[in-house]
Amino acid sequence: TLPITVRSLSEAIGMKTGELSKRLLKETSQLYGNNSPVDFETAALIAVEKNIELIVKRQKTAEELLIEDFERLTREVDSEKLRPRPPVVTIMGHVDHGKTSLLDKIRRSNVAAGEVGGITQVIRAWSVTHKIEDPETGEKVIERPITFLDTPGHEAFTKMRARGANVTDIAVIVVAATDGVMPQTEEAVAHARAADVRIIVAINKVDAPNANVDRTRRQLYNLELLPDDMGGDIQFVETSALTGQGIDDLLNAILIEAEINLADDLQADPDRPAFGTCLEAYMTSDEGVMATVLVQQGTLKLGDIVLCGANFGRVRSMQNDLGLSIEEAGPSTPVLITGLGGVPNADDPFYAVDELTTAAKIAEAREKKDREASLNRFTAVKDIDMLSAA
Ligand code: GDP
Ligand code: MG
Repeated sequence: TLPITVRSLSEAIGMKTGELSKRLLKETSQLYGNNSPVDFETAALIAVEKNIELIVKRQKTAEELLIEDFERLTREVDSEKLRPRPPVVTIMGHVDHGKTSLLDKIRRSNVAAGEVGGITQVIRAWSVTHKIEDPETGEKVIERPITFLDTPGHEAFTKMRARGANVTDIAVIVVAATDGVMPQTEEAVAHARAADVRIIVAINKVDAPNANVDRTRRQLYNLELLPDDMGGDIQFVETSALTGQGIDDLLNAILIEAEINLADDLQADPDRPAFGTCLEAYMTSDEGVMATVLVQQGTLKLGDIVLCGANFGRVRSMQNDLGLSIEEAGPSTPVLITGLGGVPNADDPFYAVDELTTAAKIAEAREKKDREASLNRFTAVKDIDMLSAA
């Protein structure tokens, strides 16, 4: 509810309270005193007659200001110290077009043979190392890491984006050549565009007898996804998660994208306290809260004090994507940590902080902010014509 009263509205639109009460009576068939609340729609309606537009202006609470200050200061990065970091890739597309199969294939082709049997997916995010050719010798010797996130879901994608915490650099849009472009394909493209991430197209299932690559390509062109020979700059890769065809091309395309279009963005300072985003979190009976977080800046270390959403604690254990215990995690690394006092939300930012008291203070502010309905204030904007012209 908005704190609009007859008195405040009268002041805002320059109408005497008596006159305003009469006008309100006519509008709503109710009697109004000077301190009676007026609902926003009615107030706006009467204001418009006076050529005044009422707009709702959110006033930031003390907690929100505290959190904002903290986040701004903690996110300050020294540009002199930036070094290249791996790209973070999300695979999106219509259901059953092969997202999981592609990720699986990428992962398996990347894990040393001896380890394959031992793959237990502890977290839904992982790093792979792709070897590329050394231009001098033609040998595959240069190793480049890539981080994959297992579909955070479109909703999470836009939610994170709304909070300015985009975790993804590149979206691989998977389209099965058997089905072609489907509704969720279009949705995925729209989400990737809204989040302003680079797109790579993987036309999958090219091994299937009913695959129609040409038709699929044409449908994608209609979505204005154009390869460079058609005046665009989108890379197209043909893949089969079944046979492994094109997997290497897809990884190469990701690295090309990272190098050509994202070199300036893919930078992080590994020598600072970590911050990043929680990807998922849940409570377990033996280990307490387990949270998968993506380190985006700095290096997260065992024993660090972390704040994650409205929760905090010391990092008690840290596992990498293979389930191995590690002591440090640098930029673009997904890790599973324990030690938080409560379960954070899937898109909460996390920060390593110096003092437990700081963590506690910000956590409390977040909790309060989440609990309290935000305070609204209304403002009268005079001269509607100018407003609509702007
Ligand atoms: P998701 O819903 O996008 O994650 O799709 P899945 O990876 O679960 O794949 C859906 C179905 O398509 C499964 O039965 C897969 O075996 C099959 N599939 C995935 N990729 C390919 C492919 O490249 N070729 C063929 N023939 N089948 C595939
Ligand atoms: Mg899947």
